[in-house]
Amino acid sequence: MTHLTNDELFDRARRAIPGGVNSPVRAFGSVGGTPRFLVSARGPYVTDAEGREYVDLVAGWGPAILGHADPRVVEAVQDAAGRGLSFGASTPAETELAELVEQRVGPVERLRLVSTGTEATMSAIRLARGFTGRDLLVKFAGHYHGHSDGLLAEAGSGLATFALPGSAGVPAEIAALTLVIPYNDLDAVRAVFAEHGDRIAAVIVEAAAANMGVVPPLPGFNRALVELAHAHGALVISDEVLTGFRVSAAGWWGLEAPFEAAAYTPDLMTFGKVIGGGMPVAALGGRADILDRLAPLGPVYQAGTLSGNPVAVAAGVATLRAADASVYARLDEASVIVADAVSAALAAEGVAHAVQHAGSLFSFLFGESVAGGARDYATVQRQESWRYPPFFHAMLDAGVSLPPSVFEAWFVTAAHDDAAIARIVDALPAAARAAAA
Ligand code: PLP
Repeated sequence: MTHLTNDELFDRARRAIPGGVNSPVRAFGSVGGTPRFLVSARGPYVTDAEGREYVDLVAGWGPAILGHADPRVVEAVQDAAGRGLSFGASTPAETELAELVEQRVGPVERLRLVSTGTEATMSAIRLARGFTGRDLLVKFAGHYHGHSDGLLAEAGSGLATFALPGSAGVPAEIAALTLVIPYNDLDAVRAVFAEHGDRIAAVIVEAAAANMGVVPPLPGFNRALVELAHAHGALVISDEVLTGFRVSAAGWWGLEAPFEAAAYTPDLMTFGKVIGGGMPVAALGGRADILDRLAPLGPVYQAGTLSGNPVAVAAGVATLRAADASVYARLDEASVIVADAVSAALAAEGVAHAVQHAGSLFSFLFGESVAGGARDYATVQRQESWRYPPFFHAMLDAGVSLPPSVFEAWFVTAAHDDAAIARIVDALPAAARAAAA
C-alpha cells in the first residue's frame, strides 16, 4: 500500500507517463481535478490510494457486470494462472469461450479471439475488405470503435463526404477511406450508398451507441441498415464491444431479435469488455463463410501472441457462465432505480435534462435544448455540458465515482445492492444543486 496522496501520485505519474495516464479519459480532462488512483475494487465499490471508498458507476468501463473481484472469476483466474500464464498455443478454454458466444448470439457462427476492442474492429474491417474486395468504410458520427487509423475519422462538411483525420498522425489518405454520416438517419445511409455503393466494403455501427452518451438506435434502424447494405453488396459490422453480454445475454442483438420488425442479422460482430470479464479479451465473429477467410484458412491475415491468453480467457468464461438471467434482471433494475433517482434530483433543482437508456446502459443530457432527447451526435453536442463537471465532483466528494465525461455511459453491476444505491441517492441532492448553479 502506498502512502502517497492522489495528488502526489498524479504528479509522479505525469513525470513517467504521458499525461499521467494510459488512456486519455482517465486524466479527468473534461471534468478537471485530480484523478483517483485506485488500489482495489470489490462488488460495487472501488478504493483509492488514500483509502477512500466510492460506489462505482464506471465498472471498468463495462466489463464488471457481476461486480468487481467476483469470487468465481477471481478463482478461475488464479487457477488458470497457476497452470501457466501464456502458451502461444491452442487451449480447450478458447473453444469453450467461442461456443458460449455462439450459443448466445445467433449471427455468430465462428469467433476469433483478440485482446482489445480496437483490434477486433480493426480486424473485422480488414476481413470485410478482404471478403468484398472493396475499400470504403461507412461509420456514424459520434460512434467509437477504438483507435485504429481509419476509425479516427471525423465527418467533413455535408452528407456523405470523405472523412478528415480525427487525430494527428492519421494520414489523410487513410481517413479518406472512411465516410462519416449522421446516426439514426436512413436517408443519409441511402445517400451514401447511392453515391458510393459499389465501393463500400462495410458499414460499422455501434449496435446501440454509447460513446457519445447513450443514444439508442431508432426502432428498426439496425434492420434497415443491414437491408440497405446488403442491397449494395456491402457487409454490416455490428460493434457490440460495449453492449455485448452487458445489455442482455445476447447483447443488443438479443434485445431486438425477438421483434420481427427490428430483428437483424449482421455479417460481422465485435465484442470486448464483458467477454473478458475485466481481462484483455475481445473478439470478432459472424458468418462462417466470412470468418473462414481469415488466416490460416483464407488470405486475410490476422494474428496475436496473446490472443486467447489462457488467464484472460478463464476470466471471460467464468463471467459468461455466471451471467445468468438474475444478473441481467438486477442490472436492468439497478439501472432504472439509479437513472430515475438522478432524474428526480435534477428535476427537483429545476435542471432541464433528458435521460437516455439502451438496455441497462444510460446517461444524461443537460439543458433545455436537449430535454426532448437526442438521436444523433449533433444534438448531443448542443447540451449544456458545463453542468456536468460540478455534478461529477459533488458526487465524487460524496463517495460516488461517475464516468469523468458527460459523453460516457454510466455502468451498474449486479452487485449494486440496496446499500450501494442508497449511497448514490444520498449524494444526489447536493450534486443536482451543483449542476443547477
Ligand atoms: N468499440 C466500442 C463500441 C467501444 O466502446 C470501445 C471502447 O470503449 C471499443 C470499440 C474499443 O475497445 P478497446 O478500448 O478495448 O480497444
